Amino acid sequence: MHSIKRIDPRRPFSVTAEGLKRITLAELGTAAAPNLGALGGHREQVKPRRTMAAAQRSLLVAAHSDRGSLDDHARQTLAAAALIADATTQVALLVFGEFKDDAAALGADKLIEMPSFDRRAFTPDVALDALAACVASYSPAHVFIPDNSTGDGDLGRRYAAQAKASVATQVVEISANHVSIYTQARKAFAVRSLPEVILLAANAVDARLPFVGAGERVDATQFKSEGNAVRQRHEDLGIEEIDAAQVALEEADFIVSAGNGVTDVPAFERLASTVGAAIGASRVAVDDGKFPRDKQIGATGKTVDASIYIAFGISGAVQHLQGIKDCRHVIAVNLDASAPIAKRANLTIVGDAAETIAALTDAAAKARNARANPSTLPPVASAPGSGKLEGALA
Ligand SMILES: Cc1cc2nc3c(=O)[nH]c(=O)nc-3n(C[C@H](O)[C@H](O)[C@H](O)COP(=O)(O)OP(=O)(O)OC[C@H]3O[C@@H](n4cnc5c(N)ncnc54)[C@H](O)[C@@H]3O)c2cc1C
Repeated sequence: MHSIKRIDPRRPFSVTAEGLKRITLAELGTAAAPNLGALGGHREQVKPRRTMAAAQRSLLVAAHSDRGSLDDHARQTLAAAALIADATTQVALLVFGEFKDDAAALGADKLIEMPSFDRRAFTPDVALDALAACVASYSPAHVFIPDNSTGDGDLGRRYAAQAKASVATQVVEISANHVSIYTQARKAFAVRSLPEVILLAANAVDARLPFVGAGERVDATQFKSEGNAVRQRHEDLGIEEIDAAQVALEEADFIVSAGNGVTDVPAFERLASTVGAAIGASRVAVDDGKFPRDKQIGATGKTVDASIYIAFGISGAVQHLQGIKDCRHVIAVNLDASAPIAKRANLTIVGDAAETIAALTDAAAKARNARANPSTLPPVASAPGSGKLEGALA
């Protein structure tokens, strides 16, 4: 039974290119999860430059990248700065880690890339030093950082404390004049003028911009001169690898999921362990007893937000799609090219699930062996569909 969703009268506005906008229920999906295509994946039309005027003032946005990209939250934070900036304000983007995206398309006027950083390594003192050096160079009016739990939120707090700067955390509403945060267990808003450091909550901003930035790359070495001298007060003990199957589905970044079209469950589980993916399933596959109930994804199962979701033999019923609406790349393997999952998928492999599972397991195992023993060159898989899939996973 569906209950009617109550609308919170105090829910925040999100800042968009058209100004502050209430998120209506019908728009939730689009506002909360901006379309990546519109962000630069493929540009339908040439967008104008936000400003051509000489910069007199700066806003600095800092975030860690993940495998060469900024995630949605970081893109929203960058968009917030770009939407708030006036004609004589430039938006500088400092990226900790490799950055392969189009900085201009995301709204940045200046790009400072520091590829030596790795999100998985815990080096808060070095990051703090680099951020402080950037601030010293640009003297930004405000520093924008995504308030996440994967490093940026921590960095923002450390920076604010070190610089004795005014700060607002978990900002859910922002304009050129104010920021708002929830208080009193989300029963009320606290509103103030923009502080020096703004740690933005996810989904406060529609990252789809009607303009582009200048996207000019800045030599980052000037900000790292003192980096080596920074005394690390923390020891990074590394990341402990755990079996992907043990990861809670809600937290998994890579999920392979089986539907009614998967008959050989052990082969499917072998694939999951070879590629290091968590296992999900459709309701029919769970009802059939192939998987435990806690693997079910969908309206009456779990909601997941993996970067990669591969659906083997899943038709894509609306109840299933509901559970994967926040996934970034959906890959479908289905005999039927017209199955509804194909409309949601970024890539559809029209083929047999068992054959593709076998080909992919084989290719992944060979790639692993080659990595463990670099002298044996990895052979290129030629099995049906696997070439495309490798491309998508690269
Ligand atoms: C109130 C309600 C709540 C529900 N909640 C959920 C939920 O939370 N999660 C959920 O998943 N469902 C849910 N459902 C069920 C949902 O409507 C679908 O019935 C279900 O998702 C279908 O599962 P499926 O796609 O695995 O199976 P099917 O609909 O049988 O589809 C199988 C697909 O596999 C393909 N296929 C077959 N053989 C092969 C092969 N050899 N190789 C490749 N492809 C092949 C077929 O072309 C087909 O597209 C719910 C339904 C209701 C009414």
